[in-house]
Amino acid sequence: MSDSTPTDSGSRDFIRDIVDEDLERNTYGSRVHTRFPPEPNGYLHIGHAKSIVLNFGIAEDYGGQCNLRYDDTNPEKEELEYVDSIKEDVHWLGYDWGEREYYASDYFGRLYELALKLISDGKAYVDSQSAEQVSEQRGAPTEAGVESPYRDRPVEENLDFFERMRAGEFPDGSHVLRARIDMASPNLNLRDPIMYRIRHAHHQRTGDEWCIYPTYDWAHGQSDWIEGITHSICTLEFENHRPLYDWFLEALEAPSDRPRQIEFARLNLSYTVLSKRRLLRLVNEGYVSGWDDPRMPTLSGMRRRGYSPAAIRTFCRHIGVSKTNSVLDIALLEHFLREEHNRTAPRVMVVLKPLKVVIENYPEGQVEDVEAENNPEDPGAGSRMVPFSREIYIDREDFREDPPKKFFRLAPGREVRLKHAYYITCSEVIKDDAGEVAELRCTYDPESRGGSTPDGRKVKGTLHWVSTAHAVDTEVRVYDRLFTVPNPVEREKEGGDFTNFLNPSSLETYTDCKAEPALREAQTGTTYQFLRHGYFAPDNEDFTPEHPVFNRAVSLRDSWAKIEKQMQQGTDR
Ligand code: ATP
Ligand code: MG
Repeated sequence: MSDSTPTDSGSRDFIRDIVDEDLERNTYGSRVHTRFPPEPNGYLHIGHAKSIVLNFGIAEDYGGQCNLRYDDTNPEKEELEYVDSIKEDVHWLGYDWGEREYYASDYFGRLYELALKLISDGKAYVDSQSAEQVSEQRGAPTEAGVESPYRDRPVEENLDFFERMRAGEFPDGSHVLRARIDMASPNLNLRDPIMYRIRHAHHQRTGDEWCIYPTYDWAHGQSDWIEGITHSICTLEFENHRPLYDWFLEALEAPSDRPRQIEFARLNLSYTVLSKRRLLRLVNEGYVSGWDDPRMPTLSGMRRRGYSPAAIRTFCRHIGVSKTNSVLDIALLEHFLREEHNRTAPRVMVVLKPLKVVIENYPEGQVEDVEAENNPEDPGAGSRMVPFSREIYIDREDFREDPPKKFFRLAPGREVRLKHAYYITCSEVIKDDAGEVAELRCTYDPESRGGSTPDGRKVKGTLHWVSTAHAVDTEVRVYDRLFTVPNPVEREKEGGDFTNFLNPSSLETYTDCKAEPALREAQTGTTYQFLRHGYFAPDNEDFTPEHPVFNRAVSLRDSWAKIEKQMQQGTDR
C-alpha cells in the first residue's frame, strides 16, 4: 500500500475461503495469483474499485501477486487515454502491479497458435455463414440449436480457411472460427461459440498486424493460463460462461493447476450509473464536463471531488463480496467518506453567501489573531491563528430578520457566538434600495474572547465568519446526486432514456465566497471541513492561489448513520 492505512482486507468471504481450500489441497502449491482485467474503453468507476480492492487485496493477504491486464481485444473502442487513466487510478487507489502490466493483445500470436491446435484436434471449425445465420441457429434455452452446414468441414480445409482469414484474404463478416462443442447444450454459451471474427481494423497496440480478433471468451481464460493466474475473479454475468472457460482449458489439455474462474456480484449504487457505455454518453453528450466531472462515479471524478483512496478502500472492504446482485444505497458510500474526513479533515471557515457585519464598538484598524483548533477529533492536528477585525462576513443564511421558532442564529437584538472569537449582538439592519438586507451592525462583548464570558451566560448559536479585509475570494461548487431517482437504468423499462432522470440541480456554483486566508495555500489531496457546510476539496483542474476553487465532496449530515440506527431499532426508514 502506498499510504499508512494498515492492510486489512476485513471480513472473510467466500472467495478467500476458496483460496484457503486451494492452499490446503495444494492445487497451486503456495501460489496465489490474481489479475485485474479492465477493457480500455472508458475510465474506471467505483464498481471497478470493488474488483481492484478484491483482486489486489487477495494477492496482498496471501503474499501473492496481482497483474494488471488490459483486455484489449476490441480494436475499435480502445484508446491510449483510457490505458493511461486506468494506471493512474489503480495507483491512486494504493495498489501496484510491479512489472506485470500485460495486454491480451500481447497474446494474439499465442492465441492463434492455440486455435490452430484446436482446429487440428477437430475441436474448432471455420463457419462461412453470416453472423445473423449463426446467431439464429443458436436457438433458445428450451430448444436445441441448429448445426452449421460447415460443422463437419475437414480439418485441412479448416486450417486453410483460418490461415487465409488471418492473412487478410476475406472481408469482414465472411467467416468466423467457432469451437465445436454441442449445439444441443442447455447452456447457450456452449453452442459452438465464436472464437474469432474478421475485422479489418487498426489496433491501438498491434497496428495492422491482425485482421482477425479473438472474442472475450476465447481470449480471457487463455490469457489467464498464459500468465499463470490461479484465481480468475469476475462478475456474475460470466457465471454461465464458466463451463466454456473450463472447456477451452480442458480441450487444450492445460495441466491441473489451470486457472479457475470465480464469480461475485457486481456493485450497483443508487442515484448513479455504473456502466462505461452510459458514462461515455454523459461525457459525449455534454451532460457532464468530462470523465472526471466531480459528479461522475469514476475514480477520477471522485478524486476531483475530494474522495480519499482510503475511504474508497474502506467502503469496498466493508461491503465485501457476495453471490447476489443488489443495489447499494449511495448514502453508505457517503457515510464512509464522511467518517474518514471527520477524522482527518482540517477545519476552516468559509462563507458561501456573504453578508457584511460591522462591529461598531470594535476599534477601527485593529486586527487580532484568534486561535482556532484545526480538528477537534485529532488533538495532534494543532491550531492556527485566524485574523479578526471590525468588519467581518457571515453567511446570509445565518441571519433572519424575522426568525422562525427554532432559528437560533443571528436576528435583531439577539446575541450569538462567533466561532473562536467573541459574542456579538445585532443592533441594526441596513437595507439596500430594493429592501434587501445589505449589512448588519453589531456590538461585541470584549470579555467574551474565545467563546465564553465571565458571567457564564449562554448563547444558542455559533456562527462561522471571515474578516473582510483578510478574506480570500473563492468559488465553491456544491454537488448533489447525479440522478433524481435511485434506479435510472431500471426506469428505462418504462420507456425513455436514463438521461431523462438526470438531476438538473446536481451542481450549484457559488462564485462570491469568502474564505479564511490559509485556503489560498490549499493543496490538492487535502480535503477540508468548511465549518457547518461540509467537506470540500480544492479542484485539481481549476484551483489557483489567485482564484481558489473548491468542490464539495459531501455534506456534514449523515443520513446513513440515522438509517442504520433505525434499522437496529427495528423501525422503518
Ligand atoms: P462496464 O459495464 O462498466 O463496461 P465492464 O465489466 O465491461 O464494465 P471491464 O473493464 O471489463 O468493465 O471491467 C474490468 C473488471 O472490473 C472486470 O473484472 C469486471 O468484472 C470488474 N467490474 C466492472 N464493473 C464492476 C462493478 N460494477 N462491480 C464490480 N466489478 C466490476
Ligand atoms: Mg467488459
